[in-house]
Amino acid sequence: MHQLARRSTVLIALVTIALGPTASLAGAAEPHPKPTPKSGAAEPHPKPTPKVAVIGTGGTIAGVSKSKVSFDDYEAGKLPVSRLVRDLRPDVDRIAAVTTQQFGNKDSNNYSIPEYRRLTATVDHALKYNDGVVVTTGTDTMEEFAYWLDLTVRSDKPVVLTGAMRPWTVIGSDAPANLYNAIHLAASGRTTCFGTVVMLNDEIHAAREVRKTDALRLNAFSSGSSGELGVIDQNRIRVNRAPARAEQCGKSGWKTPFDLGRIARRPLPEVEIAYSYQGAGPEAIKAFADAGAAGVVTAGTGAGGISPAMTEARDDAVKNGVLFASASRTGSGAVYDPHVRGVIGAEDLTPQKARLLLLLSLATTHNEHRIQKWFDTLGTAQFRPRR
Ligand code: ASP
Repeated sequence: MHQLARRSTVLIALVTIALGPTASLAGAAEPHPKPTPKSGAAEPHPKPTPKVAVIGTGGTIAGVSKSKVSFDDYEAGKLPVSRLVRDLRPDVDRIAAVTTQQFGNKDSNNYSIPEYRRLTATVDHALKYNDGVVVTTGTDTMEEFAYWLDLTVRSDKPVVLTGAMRPWTVIGSDAPANLYNAIHLAASGRTTCFGTVVMLNDEIHAAREVRKTDALRLNAFSSGSSGELGVIDQNRIRVNRAPARAEQCGKSGWKTPFDLGRIARRPLPEVEIAYSYQGAGPEAIKAFADAGAAGVVTAGTGAGGISPAMTEARDDAVKNGVLFASASRTGSGAVYDPHVRGVIGAEDLTPQKARLLLLLSLATTHNEHRIQKWFDTLGTAQFRPRR
């Protein structure tokens, strides 16, 4: 049996504290025990111990493998998040007073936009009673979870996403260390006003920049040419740079316009992604438009180019009121405003992130110029020092 699993079997009953109303939103919240006295390994935080809520959604981090060495042969989303945190005790109790909440337990791909909407409410609710929140998710669409939360959470307290490339129960799993570091980071307050960040492989990444760039390796996440925000080396949290929105800390401009509490409860608009390639046909765009999509992001070649057949289908769809965002399939560089009616430039957002920004924009307004402005500003936040 895995050593961590064995340790969990001898844990004694936990001291119950008041749960707070978090339990009512999604799944039950598990209480945390009283912090145990320090014993060397991790640096203690000054009292009072920061409160961190860990919200579990599933993924490989909660995965159970067939054997200790079946790195790829496992079922994701099996272990409850309370069990993951329990395995980190008592060490984790020295850095934070941790409670857990099970939002869901499945693959990241299995979540829908309505569930994303509920997740935002759950995170914001938890932040009312805690100093920071950790969300565990599958890694496959973690960048989308992260950017969604970055665009929609109203609180400026730390939100840290983590997951793992290896299930909890194999040898050499990155799962326990990633969860421990994510809790440590959330408890530290070092990413206050950063929006959502991702913590994996000892690296801290900004939500808008991070991408999963490898299907299997442990160092699967990268922020490309922007680089990571910092690293965690045991009890040293090194933050070397901040996302530009941190400059607005404490000001009303820090919050995005996407207050889901004020966006009507009807279904959010459908926004799809059409990938361009040599000789790409019109079918995808046509089908999306016929199915009622309000927006389509094109993952274009280079700086947004799409095939002639796709261009024709796009022109037709624009006439029918579909708004397009032009992104690049290259993974870096930018597509600026092309000054074509019905088509906005997605700047340096990846197609999957541009899709979320377009979706939230269309839920708020149909004014194309306003939406382009959002892509140019909050979609592409830049430092603007003022004297
Ligand atoms: N299939 C998993 C997911 O839920 C993969 C992972 O967590 O790494 O995204």
